[in-house]
Amino acid sequence: MLNIVLFGPPGAGKGTQANLLIERYGLLHLSTGDILRREIANKTQLGLEAKKIMDEGSLVPDEVVIGMIESKIELNLFCNGFIFDGFPRTKAQAVALDNLLKIKGTCISVMLSLKVQDEELIRRLISRGKDSGRSDDQDEEIIANRINEYNNKTAPLKQYYSFHEKFQEIEGVGSINDISHRLNKVIDSL
Ligand code: AMP
Repeated sequence: MLNIVLFGPPGAGKGTQANLLIERYGLLHLSTGDILRREIANKTQLGLEAKKIMDEGSLVPDEVVIGMIESKIELNLFCNGFIFDGFPRTKAQAVALDNLLKIKGTCISVMLSLKVQDEELIRRLISRGKDSGRSDDQDEEIIANRINEYNNKTAPLKQYYSFHEKFQEIEGVGSINDISHRLNKVIDSL
């Protein structure tokens, strides 16, 4: 299996690039943010609880997102591989993901980390908020909290994947096509 962690701060372009990677490599896209937004739209108990946290731009508890990812992996074991987008976001999630995949006889192939400066992220998120209607993209304070959460809890995962020799950093500024070529080049060289 080709299992990719598509990594980077909010607004780095993970969703856009994930869609291109899915097409090219026939992978299954697992975005915890998308799964949580579906739960909210369906007004489930999990959705109701997650909404409050997401509206502040904070992280949903590890056990909630790990449970969601576990059931998706379980249901899709016969695909070519997974693109994890927005997951893992903490060390506990990264360790749980490694364990889950190990039990299934597979592992993470690579972490592709998109690098974008904070000012550019804020500009992109505000502009996305105007089209997407995502409330967490429309308020500068919430955006700042999401970037803080990323810097404090999520960015340290770069060291985790570096230690396991899986970390690859990719310049995340440029045209969608250019960035996509950079990602493909790394994957094709694996
Ligand atoms: P995203 O669509 O990836 O930007 O995620 C939107 C929001 O969903 C985040 O700000 C968090 O509140 C929540 N979320 C998504 N994925 C995770 C995760 N792996 N761990 C904790 N919270 C998450």
